[in-house]
Amino acid sequence: MSPHFASRCTLVGAGPGDPELLTLKAVKAIANATLLLVDDLVNDAVLAHASPTARIVHVGKRGGCQSTPQAFIDKLMINALHEGERVVRLKGGDPFIFGRGGEEVEHLRAAGIDVEVVNGITAGLAGLSSLGASLTHREHAHGVVFVTGHAKPGDSGTDWPQLAATARQAKLTLVIYMGVSSLEHICQGLLSGLPAQTPVAVVQNASLPTQREVLTTLGELVHNVQSERLQSPSIIVVGDVVQGARAWQRVDSNPSVQRVA
Ligand code: SAH
Repeated sequence: MSPHFASRCTLVGAGPGDPELLTLKAVKAIANATLLLVDDLVNDAVLAHASPTARIVHVGKRGGCQSTPQAFIDKLMINALHEGERVVRLKGGDPFIFGRGGEEVEHLRAAGIDVEVVNGITAGLAGLSSLGASLTHREHAHGVVFVTGHAKPGDSGTDWPQLAATARQAKLTLVIYMGVSSLEHICQGLLSGLPAQTPVAVVQNASLPTQREVLTTLGELVHNVQSERLQSPSIIVVGDVVQGARAWQRVDSNPSVQRVA
């Protein structure tokens, strides 16, 4: 028997940044909301679709910065829903790709609240697409892995040497979220299973006018990201598919230190 839900909220993916990458369904949900709870990777420009009378609450929880505790966000949402508000929870990219969307749905369901999910374009897709390359070009990859560089406290995290060996054997592209602050550790692990010449793209602020990228190799990755001062939020793409990037093709003769700002 399906559970009875007293009310319902909508978890909306705001996409990677460019407000034109919102889905029509996301625009409708934003326009209908009376309360919007907004994560800090959401571009404020998407709020232009909100009603002028809607209440907008920023509840960022970016790594290392002051954040709104999850319990507070849950409580705020649940109270508002019980008062009959139309609540939209706006999350960067896709709500179910990292960013704790799954946990929020569980809490809400446990409180008797149903959740509708509106997909968004995840940053891991937007990053390499913005350089004109495909994550699954069939000459280079049989598949793609979305992986986090930031383990939950108490979790030992990804086994990078194992993942690198699997990626090499199975021809998989690696798309690493939240990886910049642990780049040295990640890179060291990946180098034990993948060649130093493996192409890598790091894309900061994908799809936004502030986008910057570094095209490099695994062996040069740490040095080039540090010298170009790339920071979070960035997506790291590891694999031969990166050779499909426009800029890579221009500089193929020496792909070790390449930056396209
Ligand atoms: N749900 C989000 C991911 C949340 S985790 C999504 O689907 O995109 C946060 C991480 O996403 C950041 O640390 C960064 O790795 C990545 N990210 C989010 N927006 C980004 C952007 N515009 N450019 C590059 N990386 C981004």
